[in-house]
Amino acid sequence: MPDCIFCKIVRGEIPALKVYEESLNLAFLDINPSSLGHTIIIPKKHYQKLEEMPEEEAKELFSVIFRLTKIIPKSVGTTDCNIGINNGKFAGQEVPHLHFHIVPRFERDNGLPIQGLVRMEVKKEDLPKIAEKIKKEIEDSEVFKESEKSEEQKKEKSEEIKEESTKSSEREWQEFNLEEQDKAPNYSEVRREEFY
Ligand SMILES: [Zn+2]
Repeated sequence: MPDCIFCKIVRGEIPALKVYEESLNLAFLDINPSSLGHTIIIPKKHYQKLEEMPEEEAKELFSVIFRLTKIIPKSVGTTDCNIGINNGKFAGQEVPHLHFHIVPRFERDNGLPIQGLVRMEVKKEDLPKIAEKIKKEIEDSEVFKESEKSEEQKKEKSEEIKEESTKSSEREWQEFNLEEQDKAPNYSEVRREEFY
């Protein structure tokens, strides 16, 4: 994407206040910051949206964000931040090159939480249907097949760990899980009572 403004920053054709650079990723200050220390983190390779990226590259990118989260708020004198992507034009993406924002947040800065971005009317009684739909899509999709393999490995590992523990603690663990499952439907009831 030769005309993309972020690709031009990567190639050094337009200036940016770079704060961190490595072989695959680059972080620089937002030229139109929402708050002090507002930083943009991009993969150097041009992708428009997160899901276009190979998972391995996404992990590398997320690892940079993870580390910068420990540094950026602190360097501007605060402890908190919002982290987000405008992933696609309906989500407000202005530059068509995938970029994460780290927006440091300050006490009484009059900003909103990330949930303040949009407020659609969604009926609470539709939520179980939506959850089922997403679960079905996950089952039918290839997207999770690879991670299922690694999930198998994780399970094997956790079996090994379990074998090391005593049988009684294993029973407690299973009972605990069952109890949690029984509690799950009531959680929304509690929430409802809290909010209505
Ligand atoms: Zn680009």
